[in-house]
Amino acid sequence: MIQVVGHKNPDSDSICAALVCAELLKARGLEAKAVRQGELNRETQHILAQADVEQPEMCTGVAGQNIWLVDFSDLAQGPDDIADAEIAGIVDHHRLGDVTTTNPLEAWIWPVGCTCTILFNLFKMENAEITRPLAILMMSAILSDTVGFASPTCTQKDKDAVAELAKIADVQDLDAFIKDLLIAKTDIAGLSASELVEKDLKAYPFNDRNVVVGQIELATLEQVDGMIEELNADLQRRCDEEGLAMAALMLTDITTSTTRLLYKGEWNATLDQHADNGVLMMENTLSRKKQGWPWLQKVLA
Ligand code: MG
Ligand code: MG
Ligand code: MG
Repeated sequence: MIQVVGHKNPDSDSICAALVCAELLKARGLEAKAVRQGELNRETQHILAQADVEQPEMCTGVAGQNIWLVDFSDLAQGPDDIADAEIAGIVDHHRLGDVTTTNPLEAWIWPVGCTCTILFNLFKMENAEITRPLAILMMSAILSDTVGFASPTCTQKDKDAVAELAKIADVQDLDAFIKDLLIAKTDIAGLSASELVEKDLKAYPFNDRNVVVGQIELATLEQVDGMIEELNADLQRRCDEEGLAMAALMLTDITTSTTRLLYKGEWNATLDQHADNGVLMMENTLSRKKQGWPWLQKVLA
């Protein structure tokens, strides 16, 4: 049984891509199942309800197993025992991470907006049937990762995939479909500061130091107005407890592509220079991968 696994703190792409990739492997006649590394966020729950698909089971370990990675290729984002697994495949749209393999593997890494865009093209290449649930999963993941095509990570391949998938899924009103998805994406009501930081937190190796950068996608920055102190305290706690050089959190208004950056750690003084009255705003910043993290690397280099 091949386990297909997405990254830790799973977003919609890492759940949907795992489900879809498992179906692709099954279409090839292999035994495969999707697993997840964490609880689903509200947007992903909304997507699975739309598609009427069950969530993947929790990953309990991959040692000695054949696995496929989707939506990541960094060891730090994999299961803790990933070093003892046989990585047979990767489908991803991030920079190549630090995984290595003992045997040849099948790797599909494209610079597109979403892992599901690659999977859609693999289904087409292999003439595998795309059912309505699979179409909903893929188009939703693409619209999530590209924030309704607004992200600079979005490519024509992502748009073409959604156009075809919307037909298969029989989605008549794409704007309404996107609106519902983004409402679920930006729903943070009732979440604690710690849950918010954890929601989409990623570890980045940076000059041999450990750094984490999270991101919360919001309909308006006012949603977190009363929580800034608590969020900062949570970032500081993570630095202290986990020996991080930096813990940062991007608060991103997806309607204006404006991000407020919260940060704690050893480089506070450097980052303070870019802040105004203690508030660091990043204009025209929607994507952590293409805008937020590259800016941080440049400033901290
Ligand atoms: Mg992801
Ligand atoms: Mg992705
Ligand atoms: Mg994302």
